[in-house]
Amino acid sequence: MKTTTRVCIIGGGVVGCSVAYHLTKLGWSDVMLLERSELTSGSTWHAAGGFHTLNGDTNMAALQGYTIRLYRELEALTGMSCGLHHVGGVTLADTPERLDMLKAERAKHRYMGMDTEIIGPDEIKKLSPITNVDGVLGGLYDPLDGHLDPSGTTHAYARAAKMGGAEIVLHTKVIATTPRADGTWNVVTDKGTIHAEHLVNAAGLWAREVAAMAGCYLPLHPMEHQYIVTDEVPEIMAMLDAGGEHPHVMDPSGESYLRQEGRGLCIGFYEQKCRPWAVNGTSWDFGHELLADDFDKIEESIAFAYKRFPVLERAGVKSVIHGPFTFAPDGNPLVGPVPGLRNYWSACGVMAGFSQGGGVGLMLAQWMIAGEAERDVSAMDVARFGRWIGPGYTLPKVIENYQTRFSVVYPNQELPAARPHRTTPMYDTFDAMGAVWGAQYGLEVVNYFAQPGEVRYETPSFRRSNAWEATAREVMGVRQAVGINELQNFGKYAVTGRDARAWLDRIMAGRIPAPGRLSLTPMLSEKGKIIGDFTVSCLSDTEFQLTASYGAQDMHMRWFDTHLAGDVQVVNVSDRRTGFQIAGPRARDLLAAVTSADVSAEAFRFMDVKRMVVGLSDAIVQRVSYTGDLGFEIFVDALEQRALWQALWDKGQAFGITAFGMRAMMSLRLDRFFGSWMREFSPDYTAAETGLDRFIQFKKNTDFIGRSLAEAERASPPARKLAHFVVDAADADVVAYEPIWLDGAVVGFCTSGGYSHWTGQSVATGFLPADRITEGLEVEIEILGEMRKARVVTAPLWDDPRMRA
Ligand SMILES: Cc1cc2nc3c(=O)[nH]c(=O)nc-3n(C[C@H](O)[C@H](O)[C@H](O)COP(=O)(O)OP(=O)(O)OC[C@H]3O[C@@H](n4cnc5c(N)ncnc54)[C@H](O)[C@@H]3O)c2cc1C
Repeated sequence: MKTTTRVCIIGGGVVGCSVAYHLTKLGWSDVMLLERSELTSGSTWHAAGGFHTLNGDTNMAALQGYTIRLYRELEALTGMSCGLHHVGGVTLADTPERLDMLKAERAKHRYMGMDTEIIGPDEIKKLSPITNVDGVLGGLYDPLDGHLDPSGTTHAYARAAKMGGAEIVLHTKVIATTPRADGTWNVVTDKGTIHAEHLVNAAGLWAREVAAMAGCYLPLHPMEHQYIVTDEVPEIMAMLDAGGEHPHVMDPSGESYLRQEGRGLCIGFYEQKCRPWAVNGTSWDFGHELLADDFDKIEESIAFAYKRFPVLERAGVKSVIHGPFTFAPDGNPLVGPVPGLRNYWSACGVMAGFSQGGGVGLMLAQWMIAGEAERDVSAMDVARFGRWIGPGYTLPKVIENYQTRFSVVYPNQELPAARPHRTTPMYDTFDAMGAVWGAQYGLEVVNYFAQPGEVRYETPSFRRSNAWEATAREVMGVRQAVGINELQNFGKYAVTGRDARAWLDRIMAGRIPAPGRLSLTPMLSEKGKIIGDFTVSCLSDTEFQLTASYGAQDMHMRWFDTHLAGDVQVVNVSDRRTGFQIAGPRARDLLAAVTSADVSAEAFRFMDVKRMVVGLSDAIVQRVSYTGDLGFEIFVDALEQRALWQALWDKGQAFGITAFGMRAMMSLRLDRFFGSWMREFSPDYTAAETGLDRFIQFKKNTDFIGRSLAEAERASPPARKLAHFVVDAADADVVAYEPIWLDGAVVGFCTSGGYSHWTGQSVATGFLPADRITEGLEVEIEILGEMRKARVVTAPLWDDPRMRA
């Protein structure tokens, strides 16, 4: 065993082996994988080996597609068999809502180049004669679905990694990991210590324990999971004799997945009566044993399965596999550099190792070697949960995720587990006002206010929901008088120091404003991708405030920390600095009523920032609004938020003040085509594609990060650009990722949309070929399987000069 290595991977399950293979494939051969037992000794050996592409996140779905296509490559490279069965699979829908969801998925697949199709009950019956299609309305067929041999596949990854130079060391347990001053790691094992430049935690069932060795917490938890393998089934034998194979059938209503296993069947369940495993930690003694059979918890699921697949009732049980595997709170993997640690990488929480393991390995290897992955990995970024997360939150969320694995996922849905968890000082006040709550990054935020007599629950739907009236009411309140909305859900950073301006000039692509002014700027990666859209406020030459998306806090802080240079301090003040935005034609009158400072149009211009006393508090006030109105953002210390509210709300009565929530905010922004983080702006897109290039300051004399790519795009503009549409919608508006059709072909997709209550139109934003974007261009947008006419509009739907006056 060597004692120094560039990369040390802890864990020889399918994920660790995939990471090892991808690192060597991309050129790092000095790689070592440590496994405390034999390969596959965690969850991997008892997996059912099924794979599929379906995932609500398009990037995750694409990576699942990559994983599945990789297996043939692995077989060819190593000469080993992965035991592949590309039998195809169908996901059943027996409610209109589920069919809507599958149609929306199918629509996304069109521009992802995936060959799925919606099929009817007759076709389902033809594919799977053992399925009782009573009540089935249709299904989504994916020819890529299939299954493999988990052990053979893991060994093939390992063989391929070895062929690329990796050393795989078995029966070697890591017992401690300690960082050195230079950011490298001592990896202490029961066979000696290894000095590694980079450390990868791929310890699966023991990922929590291994993370704790480095003093960090990873939000994942193991759940027990059970599947049953039957004896021979005559109908399957007949299919085999005829030269066929049975496809996979996912039956979300029965919370089951079914496939052929040899001459019989295999069926697994995501049961409601599920059980978390090893709540207080995974024992080091756990190894190749299975958990005891437990038919009680899947009794109801089995009863349902007997109705859907009557042959099961007659089939004998050959074996029961009951074992644990890990989940993150949202069911997606935890991948990437762990915030707060140097050269420490996570490849954990992979709940579908045979659908996702290849993509996880590829993304992590790219990230480690090139500094960033080729596509947006936010959905699996280990930093997406923030430092506030702990086991008390993770456990109920993981249980909820397991229970809802097969549920219909609605775009406006709010999941209830572990809530309320994080609340602002306004929680009780807003709750008493009828708040209908949502959660963002663990924080309770108001979606809208229900009036007395209205239901305080938004019905989950793909179509317009019961929040319609309330949202319209709040939109009108803003546009016609003045609205007030909490500012908590912004990420906020205090940047101070002698070199703060120079540092910001390098980190941000845009102009860094003069004292007393604001600017908008994209933050770009080395490859020119958008990794943040920021407002920079200059309070003095050595003191700045940055605001951006609340949910990207840890990703942004990780970026800032790794790029710190000179006399600069960056402090995340997201939860310490909060307040309200007031917006609408009476906003200035209201501000004037609570401050003695001069807030006239001449003294307080559009894009100014000032410190002033507002009510009882010292505040930072910015003249800007995300609603497109005359507006102000007022930031105070979090402990003074209620006092600020009282001052604004009391004085606001005279001006007809309306409290508004996120639903109204997202409707208001549509009128001005203001983009939004992870919708229009994400690491999948460049500044020139999204129009954010207008905020890049090419004149500045700084080699800002991403400059060469931004310059290249300037010289050779991108082929696609964002366009805005008015849509001839019926009862459902664009959400995101709907395909855009032109001349009978899919030419782009939507990034977001919704209903503009102020202008009374359905609005969408999406990518089109840049040379086709002209006022009035007629396209079609596929919403829930229906073609809807849409027209390109190039000027904002509403432009109030008072915003800038
Ligand atoms: C019943 C069941 C059915 C499943 N069916 C499917 C399916 O059909 N399709 C699918 O895609 N997924 C399925 N899964 C999930 C799948 O098994 C996991 O996604 C996958 O195995 C995770 O792999 P991993 O490499 O992350 O973790 P693990 O397989 O847990 O591997 C971690 C490895 O790290 C080693 N290790 C831990 N700590 C140390 C240490 N300190 N030192 C050295 N080595 C260490 C362990 O010994 C282990 O070998 C199923 C899981 C179960 C339980």
